[in-house]
Amino acid sequence: MKKIFLLGLAVVLVGVFSFYNVDTCSAKVRFVTIGTGGVTGVYYPTGGAIGKIVNKKKKQYNLRVTVESTGGSVFNVNAVMAGDLEFGIVQSDRQYQAWNGTKDWKDKGPQRDLRAICSFHPESIVLVAGNDTGIETFMDLRGKHVNIGNPGSGQRGNSTDALAACGIDWKTEMRAEGLKADESAKFLQDGRIDAFFYTVGHPNGSIKAATSGRRKVHFVPVTGACIDKLVAKWPYYAKAYIPIKFYPMARNKKDVNTFAVKATFVTSAKIPDDIVYAITKEVFDNLEAFKKLHPAYGILTKKNMLEALSAPIHPGAMKYYKEVGLK
Ligand code: GLU
Repeated sequence: MKKIFLLGLAVVLVGVFSFYNVDTCSAKVRFVTIGTGGVTGVYYPTGGAIGKIVNKKKKQYNLRVTVESTGGSVFNVNAVMAGDLEFGIVQSDRQYQAWNGTKDWKDKGPQRDLRAICSFHPESIVLVAGNDTGIETFMDLRGKHVNIGNPGSGQRGNSTDALAACGIDWKTEMRAEGLKADESAKFLQDGRIDAFFYTVGHPNGSIKAATSGRRKVHFVPVTGACIDKLVAKWPYYAKAYIPIKFYPMARNKKDVNTFAVKATFVTSAKIPDDIVYAITKEVFDNLEAFKKLHPAYGILTKKNMLEALSAPIHPGAMKYYKEVGLK
């Protein structure tokens, strides 16, 4: 009886210790999270693509990448600076503003711990309006009910920049909403707004949803002398167009002129070099596989992925770029 008891105890102890071992092993795995955007944007799948590539080597690096849906660029910069997230995808204009302490960072000052890793796809400033709204040009937005983007998003800065440049006061001359990008398509289709702004890569699921419902809609060109001036003023803005081939249900038949920024990948100076090195190396060494994960990455090259960065490059990423002769 005593023997059986001891044997039983031994089995239990072995069980406890092996569980403990597994647990101490997994405790070494470092979890890092990438802040993205709404689930119907391109940031969310971009975070997923990085995770997919890097997590293949999770044993080698003791690293596991997870992804979080967030309110967008401004939220991501602030969360990375606060240490709530390790990485973020942010618009190039937002990276510039955070690094220089302007716009949303005017009160907080320059975000000197912000570090750049690389850039990804271009994102154009999209303005979608119902055909029944009479919004045909940018100047027609006066008096309309428009989603300019949620606070924390990248698009809110672009829509308000464009409106201010063209002399439209969105606080008094428009009925402005601060809806999340994920909600825009439904609100437009339901007739609850006349138009919405979204700064996003293409093709994009929520623009597809917005253009293929029962309410017929079109893209409004974001153009004019006032926009030309705005684009000329800031290094992070460039003229661009929306490739109409991705949205065959929109009324427009030709590519639509607008301006654009780039999606960039950032972190904090506080994140260890070896973690940033591992992520950079896996994405760049496997760029062809990475590019297959979303059609918006079609034009990416190792060289153009080092463009549109304002914050200093993180030393972990720099180590990789020097190794392969990119810097
Ligand atoms: N550019 C948007 C932002 O910064 C997000 C776009 C996306 O999720 O793809 O908020």
